Amino acid sequence: IPVIEVKNLTKRYGSTAAVNGLTFTVRPGHVTGFLGPNGAGKSTTLRMILGLNDPTSGTVTVDGRGFRDRPRGLRHVGALLDAGDVHGGRSARAHLSALARSNGIPRDRVDEVLQEVGLTGAAGRRIGGYSLGMKQRLGIATALLGDPPVLLFDEPLNGLDPEGVLWVRGLFRRLAAEGRTVFVSSHLMSEMENTADQLVVIGRGELIAAESLAEFAARG
Ligand code: ADP
Ligand code: ADP
Repeated sequence: IPVIEVKNLTKRYGSTAAVNGLTFTVRPGHVTGFLGPNGAGKSTTLRMILGLNDPTSGTVTVDGRGFRDRPRGLRHVGALLDAGDVHGGRSARAHLSALARSNGIPRDRVDEVLQEVGLTGAAGRRIGGYSLGMKQRLGIATALLGDPPVLLFDEPLNGLDPEGVLWVRGLFRRLAAEGRTVFVSSHLMSEMENTADQLVVIGRGELIAAESLAEFAARG
């Protein structure tokens, strides 16, 4: 069964539709890329899947449960959102510890994910002093913290060094191999090529394609 189901999803801000009648599904056990140019509506869609924004019309279900009756929190859906999101005054360890506490996640898990993303040495420093790549790693740690079955990553490769890119691709493949649903946005086809096996492609809030990467690449 598809874990994420988006049907006729529309989100309007005033008279503009950021997302306009989108329909697609994202299956577990794959890395699905969410490809589209800047402003296409990717972040808006991810925020609705996460349950942070409500749709103007249409539905998003995760495991068959809609916006109202869906369990929230990091143990259900984990996400790397815009790296600008986190308060810079706190350390990464304090930030993750607060999230663990409010989500009922054991404390030990904080050091585990810091290690997993390679931030152990920097865990006590202010997030405000982090490079973009380090902020991305922290966002990935946030997504992993609750060990969730569904993971969303908004432009995770932005700001990562080449070694970080290879690492994150391996991480996504491992998460998918564990049977999780992994949905990764990007505005660059080249980033998707060694990252995703399925693609959902959008433009101006509308669906352009939903197929395997190989099928999409063969379109010419
Ligand atoms: P992407 O993530 O693909 O770059 P977004 O989802 O961020 O695209 O944005 C899609 C469109 O919706 C853009 O035109 C953007 O300016 C607009 N938009 C997004 N969020 C808001 C908001 N809170 N208020 C008004 N317009 C918004
Ligand atoms: P805090 O204790 O730090 O205030 P919150 O629960 O208020 O924690 O959320 C902090 C940030 O986490 C918010 O900016 C929100 O956008 C983001 N967020 C909320 N739910 C999720 C999630 N499931 N995965 C990742 N980030 C999330």
